[in-house]
Amino acid sequence: MPLAEQKLIQQIRRSVRGGKSVVTGIGDDCAVLRVPPGHELLVTTDFTIENVHFRRDWHPPELVGRRCLTRGLSDIAAMGGEPRAAFLSLALASDVPQKWVDRFLKGLLDLAEEFKLPLAGGDTAQSAGGIQADIVVVGAVPKGRAVLRSGAKAGQQIYVTGELGGSAAMLARLAASKPVGAAYLRHFRPHARVAVGQWLRQRRIASAMIDLSDGLSTDLEHICQESHVGAEIEAEAIPRAQVGAGKKRVALDLALHGGDDYELLFTSAAAVPSKVAGVQVTRIGRTTRSAGMQLIGADGKAQPLQAKGWEHFKGNW
Ligand code: ADP
Ligand code: MG
Repeated sequence: MPLAEQKLIQQIRRSVRGGKSVVTGIGDDCAVLRVPPGHELLVTTDFTIENVHFRRDWHPPELVGRRCLTRGLSDIAAMGGEPRAAFLSLALASDVPQKWVDRFLKGLLDLAEEFKLPLAGGDTAQSAGGIQADIVVVGAVPKGRAVLRSGAKAGQQIYVTGELGGSAAMLARLAASKPVGAAYLRHFRPHARVAVGQWLRQRRIASAMIDLSDGLSTDLEHICQESHVGAEIEAEAIPRAQVGAGKKRVALDLALHGGDDYELLFTSAAAVPSKVAGVQVTRIGRTTRSAGMQLIGADGKAQPLQAKGWEHFKGNW
């Protein structure tokens, strides 16, 4: 059984850090936040739901908490913003052990500490079943400078950070009841590319940007639709994650359609270095005037690329 609501809030309150953006944090009816002059606020909210985003028997609680906050940080990164404060709404069934809650919070707060990000509030409630966490991250970006999904023009290059498909490969292994050691579990520990997003925004290099939460094909389609462009992706260019002890490259389908990698996908008219803020950046294709997405194979032949990433209410599991 989890701690009673007030006790749990007190425990959280004791373990959080303050921050330059928080005038008043946990303990009042609202948090009071400072907005830096000349900036706009970014606000993002993301659910982490038991048996939808994680399973208690598959995922260590520290990693569930860490990834819960990563989802919010990654959205701020995709706008080129600076994270300023986080809010956590947590609903727990009465059968959730407090040990699980402690470990979840440790994972989340350790990551907040890495980013010097204050947890400035939230809500705590009993759920009718299972665990539901909603993370809100508030960020700031200089006025008018947020990098949108809608800024891509035809004839620009398409880039991606890091490597893709590792998280989907880990899930596939868990679903097949195969063992997952540290070499796989690291893919459930993605890194929000906050520094990369800010670097690209500061130099006005990214014309459009999105974070890869649902899968390359699905998230690329969002950029295409919002920017009214098409895209050609070179299959051979996609950086496929190396998984397991043998560092085997994941199948192309996992890199194309697997979700939860939290890398950045962006378009640019400028030359982009192969490493930004210590993170590998790979050119994977270009935007086109004609609508729709094409996958160019090793033989140079094009075939239509369907968006087959994660979508809720489509019964992906
Ligand atoms: P209210 O009844 O006004 O919603 P609460 O008792 O729910 O107040 O919350 C009291 C304080 O604790 C508020 O500052 C709220 O933001 C904070 N809080 C509640 N739950 C959490 C949580 N899970 N994480 C962080 N802060 C929380
Ligand atoms: Mg409340």
